[in-house]
Amino acid sequence: MEKAIALPNYINNQWCTSNATEYLDVINPATAEVLARVPLSLASEVEQAVQAASEAFGNWRRTPPTERVQYLFKLKNLLEEHFEDLARTITLECGKTLAESKGEMRRAIENVEVACGIPMMMQGTNLEDIARGIDEMMIRQPLGVCAVIAPFNFPGMIPFWFLPYAIACGNTYIVKPSEKVPLTMQKVFQLLEKTGLPQGVVNLVNGAKEVVDAILDHPKIRAISFVGSTPVAKYIYSRGATNGKRVQCQGGAKNPLIVLPDADLEMTTRIAADSAFGCAGQRCLAASIAVTVGEARRSFTEAIAETAQKRAVGSGLDPGIEMGPVITAQSKARIEGLIQQGADEGATVLVDGRSPNIPSYERGYFVRPTILQNVDPSGDIARTEIFGPVLSLIHVETIEQAIALVNGGQYGNMACLFTSSGAAARKFRYEAEAGNIGINIGVAAPMAFFPFSGWKESFFGDLHGQSNHAVEFFTQTKVVVERWPSNWSRQF
Ligand code: NAD
Repeated sequence: MEKAIALPNYINNQWCTSNATEYLDVINPATAEVLARVPLSLASEVEQAVQAASEAFGNWRRTPPTERVQYLFKLKNLLEEHFEDLARTITLECGKTLAESKGEMRRAIENVEVACGIPMMMQGTNLEDIARGIDEMMIRQPLGVCAVIAPFNFPGMIPFWFLPYAIACGNTYIVKPSEKVPLTMQKVFQLLEKTGLPQGVVNLVNGAKEVVDAILDHPKIRAISFVGSTPVAKYIYSRGATNGKRVQCQGGAKNPLIVLPDADLEMTTRIAADSAFGCAGQRCLAASIAVTVGEARRSFTEAIAETAQKRAVGSGLDPGIEMGPVITAQSKARIEGLIQQGADEGATVLVDGRSPNIPSYERGYFVRPTILQNVDPSGDIARTEIFGPVLSLIHVETIEQAIALVNGGQYGNMACLFTSSGAAARKFRYEAEAGNIGINIGVAAPMAFFPFSGWKESFFGDLHGQSNHAVEFFTQTKVVVERWPSNWSRQF
């Protein structure tokens, strides 16, 4: 086999070979084939990127917002032009189906489109005559150098929850992609290069912990966005905040989906299956617990078990495939271990997706859809984020018990309800303790013009990604109070 290419970093508008001594293989999870090698870059390379971004900041913040967004218009067109290639790259390195990758890129582009409205979104406020002859205004100014640390599961979309807003607001930026899926950002940065953005405005540093720690500790980095697992989110939030930075961290999840007896069974089953098994369950908004209420138990259990068994599993590039592999061999082993743990805690493995045979992809990291029935709500498996295609079934008798179950969980990323009752929907929307709520929607992913609102252990910070929250996160407010003596007319 040819030696896999070593990926470069992009610093100060130059593609540069890393000085790293360690590289990791980037692997296609459907075939276990090595696609490339990613450097575990050094703290000194973060230093170079910060230096470049910091030097670029002065001129970039003085570039009028109307001019800054012209680069985003160009980027939007380039992303559309290269849409198929970007989606294919996501599928190759991350495993999801091509349709899922296209959906992901569409969401990425929507964030660029929204950030093109910065000349409106970044405006401040003012009031004349706060006292006689005195006016007051609040203006928004960029912070300086900002950075994002991204997870593996949406290599194309997640950096776009932040980057377009950050640079449109006049900041300069550093992206640290997940070391498991660095290829998509290589392609995105090739397109960013084509927009003609000035030197140092956007930078890409590949790597893992050394790069992250250098970002957390660098005095010139003003704000950090993180998306990933909760333990790492807590670490980044506390270390970044101790160093005086603005930090927003989106963490893990364990999302419940509630089925009331009056829900439309066919629609609920179809949507629940997509929520639990879409992207092989590796979505932070995936439903991982289905709570049946009253008479919904029997009909939903039968229907979801049948749907899970029928799901077409294979390489995401092949037509007709509904679910791809999970990300790594370690992840497959972990998920299969957690299925066993569920069984050991007393659940029935109603549909068992462990060790499947996927013809032509015997080396891939596949787990088929799995359903655990009668999961103990107080057991470990009901609380652990599995991050694989495993749906746990829990049964309760009333909507109050279902809401208590939702609210008793440590996470608060998403909760959804399936019903035909408006009153039940309102009660749920009002009482459920989660930042994203779905009513007859299985993956309640906010559009780019709404904030991505995780709660509890799914989010650390106050301002979320996307929309006006991103504009607030990437700007600092300045209040000006002014008085102009009224004797000016004597000069003329
Ligand atoms: P992860 O926490 O392992 O890694 C995320 C990033 O942190 C990577 O860039 C990685 O290099 C870095 N990192 C990992 N360990 C580190 C350490 N000890 N010190 C410093 N940096 C470290 O997450 P993942 O496995 O890539 O992604 C899956 C997780 O992300 C799941 O928990 C999922 O729920 C979560 N997620 C959350 C959201 C959300 O919006 N809340 C969205 C997507 C994914």
